Amino acid sequence: MKKPFVTREKAEEIKKQIPTPFHLYDEKGIRENAEAVKEAFAWNKGFREYFAVKATPNPALLKILGEYGCGCDCSSLTELMLAEACGFTGDDIMFSSNVTPAEEYKKCAELGGIINLDDITHIDFLEETIGYIPEKISCRYNPGGTFKITNDIMDNPGDAKYGLTTEQLFEAFKILKSKGAKEFGLHAFLCSNTVTNEYYPLLARTLFEIAVQLKEEVGVHIGFINLSGGVGIPYRPDQEPNDIRVIGEGVRKVFEEVLVPAGMDDVCIYTEMGRFMLAPYGGLVTTAIHEKHIHKEYIGCDACAANLMRPAIYGAYHHITVLGKEDQPCDHKYDVTGSLCENSDKFAIDRMLPKIDMGDILFIHDTGAHGHSMGYNYNGRLRSAEVLLRPDGSFVQIRRAETPKDYFATLDGTEEYKKMFGGV
Ligand SMILES: *Cc1c(COP(=O)(O)O)cnc(C)c1O
Repeated sequence: MKKPFVTREKAEEIKKQIPTPFHLYDEKGIRENAEAVKEAFAWNKGFREYFAVKATPNPALLKILGEYGCGCDCSSLTELMLAEACGFTGDDIMFSSNVTPAEEYKKCAELGGIINLDDITHIDFLEETIGYIPEKISCRYNPGGTFKITNDIMDNPGDAKYGLTTEQLFEAFKILKSKGAKEFGLHAFLCSNTVTNEYYPLLARTLFEIAVQLKEEVGVHIGFINLSGGVGIPYRPDQEPNDIRVIGEGVRKVFEEVLVPAGMDDVCIYTEMGRFMLAPYGGLVTTAIHEKHIHKEYIGCDACAANLMRPAIYGAYHHITVLGKEDQPCDHKYDVTGSLCENSDKFAIDRMLPKIDMGDILFIHDTGAHGHSMGYNYNGRLRSAEVLLRPDGSFVQIRRAETPKDYFATLDGTEEYKKMFGGV
C-alpha cells in the first residue's frame, strides 16, 4: 500500500496559507534517500550523483541535494543559470544536452562544467563555438538495437535520437585526443523508469567493456563513466521498489570484474538520476471541487494537467489517496479530472477510491520529479506553488503559484497589457 507523507490535518493547515493545488515535498524522505544513494556507491572514491535538474528545478531542493555531494545535470541555458545561481560551478555541473545551441556551450564552458557531447559533429561545433576543446570531456553512447533485461525488451535505443554509435564513439575519442583532451568520460541513458535492480549493473557492463576497449585501442584515459538516469520508482502500489544498495553493489561487482583487471580501478562512477532522487518525495495536493454523474462518475479537482502532465501525455499511473479516508473501502469507481478543455486531462480513469465528498483533499503520489517542471499554461491555466514539508512538521513555500500577471508578462509593452495591469 502506498502511504502519503502528509495527513489530512496537516494538508488542511497548509491549505489555510497556501491554497490548493500545490506540489508538496517531503524533506525527510529526500534526505534519507540522498544519504542511501551516497552510501550505496561509497565503494567508488569518485562517485557523484548529478541530479537531473529538469526533473525538479527548484533551488531549495537543489541545495538539499547539494548537501549530500550531488552536482547538477543540466541540458539548457536556464538550467545552467539555475545551477550557477545555486552555487554549483566547475565540476559540479554535467552538461548532458542534445541539439545544443552555441550560446549554451559558451555558458557551460564559462562555468567550467563538464561537457557531454551528444554527437560526433559537435566536436567541431564546440571547437568553433568556444575556441578550444576542454581537457575533460565526455561522449554519450547509443549502442542501437533494443535494451533487454533477460528476455524483456526494456527500451529501444535504436529509435532514440541521442548519442554516438559505437564506430563514431571510437572515432570521436581519437579526434578529441588529437585536439588535446586529456580526461574522458563515457555516458549512456538507455532505458527510462526501470523498476528493477538490474538496469544499472547491465548498463555498467556495456559501458565498462567499451571503456576498456577505448583505453586499449585508442589509448585514452577514461576518468569517469556516467550511468545517467533511468532508475525508476514504483508508481503502482503492487510494484516492488528498487533497492539502491543492491544496485550499487551490482555495479561494484561488474566494476571489479571488468575495470579492475584492466587496471582501471580509478574510474569514477557518475549518475544523473532525477526520478529516483525525488519522485516519491513529492505529491500534488488538490481539492475535489465538483462531482458529476453522467455516463461515468467524475470527480473534478482544482489541479489539472497543467500541474501534472504525465497521465495526459504518457497515460502514466499516479496513485491517489483521499486524505483522511485511508482506511475506508475503495468501493467507488471514478474518473478524477482537471478542468482543461481536453479530455486527456484525467489524473485517473476508472479508479477505485473511497467515496469522495466535495472539499476532500486528494494526494496524487510521486510527483516530486517530472511533475511541476513539466507544467504548462494551456487554457491559460497557471502553474501551482511548491511547498516543502520540513522534518519537524513545519512547512515553507519554495515557489509561489503563478498569477495572471506572470501569464501575461511576455505581453509587456503592449497596449492590452497596460489595460490589464495599468501603467507600465
Ligand atoms: C531526463 C534525464 C535524466 C534523468 O532521468 P530520470 O529518468 O529522471 O532518472 C538524466 N540524464 C539525462 C541526460 C536526462 O535527459
